[in-house]
Amino acid sequence: MASWEDNVRKVVPYVPGEQPKEKNIIKLNTNENPYGPSKRVLEKAVELEKLKLYPDPAASELVETIANYHGLNNNQVFVGVGSDDVLAMAFMTFFNSGKKLLFPDITYSFYDVWAELFNIPYEQIPVDCDFRIKAADYYKDNGGVIFPNPNAPTGIAEPLSFVRDILDHNKDVIVIVDEAYVDFGGESALPLIDEYDNLLVVRTYSKSRSMAGLRIGYAMGNERLIKYLNDVKYSYNSYTMNMPSIILGKESILDDEYFKETVNKVIDTREWFKGEIEKLGFSCPPSAANFLFMTHSRLSAKEIFETAKANKIYVRYFNKPRIDNHLRVTIGTREEMETFLELLKSIV
Ligand SMILES: *Cc1c(COP(=O)(O)O)cnc(C)c1O
Repeated sequence: MASWEDNVRKVVPYVPGEQPKEKNIIKLNTNENPYGPSKRVLEKAVELEKLKLYPDPAASELVETIANYHGLNNNQVFVGVGSDDVLAMAFMTFFNSGKKLLFPDITYSFYDVWAELFNIPYEQIPVDCDFRIKAADYYKDNGGVIFPNPNAPTGIAEPLSFVRDILDHNKDVIVIVDEAYVDFGGESALPLIDEYDNLLVVRTYSKSRSMAGLRIGYAMGNERLIKYLNDVKYSYNSYTMNMPSIILGKESILDDEYFKETVNKVIDTREWFKGEIEKLGFSCPPSAANFLFMTHSRLSAKEIFETAKANKIYVRYFNKPRIDNHLRVTIGTREEMETFLELLKSIV
């Protein structure tokens, strides 16, 4: 019997890390930066009275501030509601050849979800046994390439020469480099956007800028790429960026000193914590992100995940092939990591 349900688009949604309601927890499961937004953001008066008006559809003030910060023109920057929104728009805009979109098997688990949602064929290419992406795997004919650099959940960063290698072998498709974690030690592909008009570099406020709750992401690239993205955006929702995001997003960029200070604190804590857990027999790939992807030769990651949770410490566990004995642990404050370290010591 035919029913309306036959014609419903059925999708398997992305499952984000848990946002527990429980109080007094240590939250190391979704890669937020523990230090919070800059004082400039916290103290900025937002005229809420103005919420009666539609915001600027072009979010010009925010776009201009981001463009200036990176030494670009305004027409080289596209903003969205978190980089998830930016990436979803980019999938819709750029991957329409009917050929396979290529990305690593171990990577941000939203890529395959968007590909399914937008009916984009795709192929997940296995990273090697050290979780490294091999550029040569991306030389073949395809409908586009996307990867995070540093990659998630491994934290491994590839050098600019690697990105260039991929670009040199993929001149007829769009290549997206998702730089959600680049501020924690990766090498940005941004200097290549003038040379490669098919390169889109995507960033987010959610990790290094400690503003996941506001939802701001952006893409940088050749002005033609940005125009095509804007055309799709204006065909979908003209007002993606709300007024507080535009104003507070701008303030964050203007306080570069605070930004660099908190990012450096995270990096220092990461390197200290890595040294400590290695003494306990854990290992993890070198991380250029604000998390470590750790495993232990003897102990079960799933059991540590559960024990940690019982002790109000939330980390991320992926029940997936190849990585089901790893934990992805966000770098919190020094005190938070000391507490987690004590727990790990007691488990070991
Ligand atoms: C967190 C993350 C994003 C999305 O972040 P938003 O909060 O939507 O900006 C995108 N890509 C990667 C690799 C991430 O880890």
